[in-house]
Amino acid sequence: MPAKALIFDLDDTLMDTCGQLVPEAHRQACLAMQAAGLDVALEALLKTRLQLIRSQPRADIDQLLAAHYGCQDPAVPLAGHQTYFNPVFEHLEPFPGVPELLAELHQQHRLYLVTSGYAETQARKVAALNIGQWFEDIGYIPVQAQRGKQTYFSELIRSQDYHPQEVVVIGDRINNEIVAGNRLGCPTVWIRQGECAHILPEGPEETPRFITDSVLNLPHILPHI
Ligand SMILES: [Mg+2]
Repeated sequence: MPAKALIFDLDDTLMDTCGQLVPEAHRQACLAMQAAGLDVALEALLKTRLQLIRSQPRADIDQLLAAHYGCQDPAVPLAGHQTYFNPVFEHLEPFPGVPELLAELHQQHRLYLVTSGYAETQARKVAALNIGQWFEDIGYIPVQAQRGKQTYFSELIRSQDYHPQEVVVIGDRINNEIVAGNRLGCPTVWIRQGECAHILPEGPEETPRFITDSVLNLPHILPHI
């Protein structure tokens, strides 16, 4: 069944979030913690933050960092958390070739963008990347929403009267958009790159129909759907 609609993830699918934005977000979080009263030099604070993330990747890094320096004031980790998830940025770039890819795909498919995070931050990213014009709709899914993307995909399929098999889901996280697309019976394309490249599928629900290392390969994959 030919692909009518393509649903894209944003971070680390259409832009290099890991390389472009994450280091700067950590720096700004450290500055915010300083401004909230943590009296540690920026360079030392940033170095400790990154070391703690590596050693305890599942812990709340802002709580951990404040505790590391014996800070009791809850305003300090709160400032770090809020700033990390709402970093200030002016210039962002999509992966090279992505604007041309979207322009090409737009001629034959209806394109959708569905992204998890703080809606305001994600909307600022889309504006900075200058790619919003190619999408029929952009879905902003709260981080804490259980099965948020699956609900959005399902509602889109119903409201637009798509067959699930003609809606292709494309993203870098097998445990987010890929599993959501698979559960609904959509063809899925795992863009295996960045920090999630090493997280392997556990069971059929997480197993993508196609795997590629760049979204730019999509025109070669779509004819097989
Ligand atoms: Mg992503």
